[in-house]
Amino acid sequence: MQKTSSKSGVYVFPFFLFGLFWALAITLWQTTGNLFYFFNFGYIGTSIAVGIGLYISLPAKKKPTGRRVAQFLVGAYMLFFLGLFARENMQIEGFFFYLLAGMFYGAVIHYLVAKIFGVFIFNRGWCGWSCWTAMILDLLPFRRHRQAPLAPPFWALRYLHFGLSLGLVAVLWWGFGYRVQEQSVTELYWLVGGNALYYALGIALAFLLKDNRAFCKYVCPIPTLQKIPARFALLKIAGDLNKCTDCGACTKMCPMDIDIPAYLQKGQRVLSTECVFCLECINVCTKGALAVNFAFDRVRH
Ligand code: SF4
Ligand code: SF4
Repeated sequence: MQKTSSKSGVYVFPFFLFGLFWALAITLWQTTGNLFYFFNFGYIGTSIAVGIGLYISLPAKKKPTGRRVAQFLVGAYMLFFLGLFARENMQIEGFFFYLLAGMFYGAVIHYLVAKIFGVFIFNRGWCGWSCWTAMILDLLPFRRHRQAPLAPPFWALRYLHFGLSLGLVAVLWWGFGYRVQEQSVTELYWLVGGNALYYALGIALAFLLKDNRAFCKYVCPIPTLQKIPARFALLKIAGDLNKCTDCGACTKMCPMDIDIPAYLQKGQRVLSTECVFCLECINVCTKGALAVNFAFDRVRH
């Protein structure tokens, strides 16, 4: 059985994150002389800490507001400031282009920190707390979806999407000699067009499948990057089998269709790499059987 963290322990977490991000902000600013790092990491750390602080302090029914606040503060900043104002192509193709060009700007730092290396610690917290696509999808009415998830082949669409994005970049880069440029209008068009497509597809799928997160489950290419580090993520949901009555409320509320009690019964944390760390399961459990837990899992999953 997993040991869950105490409530006072959870309160420490937003302060820890706040300090961690500001330490990173100051270190990068001092070592590179670039004030952007100070502002960027300081702002993101403060936004997430405020969201988590709100989540902890609000009454049960209002707790998701904390997550939504962080989602809007970070997601909107990434999309509007880094994307539209600073003209960085934040789409996955932009990340590949900047990597090929050796341009380690905001988009590359964002992917490396939030979507690859940070996942080793914070799990897919990006998807639950900061994503600018999900910030809109989570506003749709199918929060608690009632249809069975689609069959396994549909889950492969995200890998196809990832492969097509990578292939498109390779063809443009090596076949047509396309070269990404700093703050170019082309990257701005790519960002706007790509996001418009994501939003249109995400909203259409949500209504079609009556599931706000259908786009996340079947189409988004980002989990392809996240799923390997998510296997080893230190932060996961843990449960106390003595308190769990196997009522299934957590699984019904989980936006990613994860069978949470099944992990508890095996004496494991929630090892699914689909978990977006939204904490809805903790919030809905009236027995207090679930909590955030910081540990290393020795099992394969
Ligand atoms: S799966 Fe994609 S769209 Fe969904 S939250 Fe994660 S990055 Fe955003
Ligand atoms: S397991 Fe819990 S934290 Fe993870 S996605 Fe499901 S409801 Fe959210």
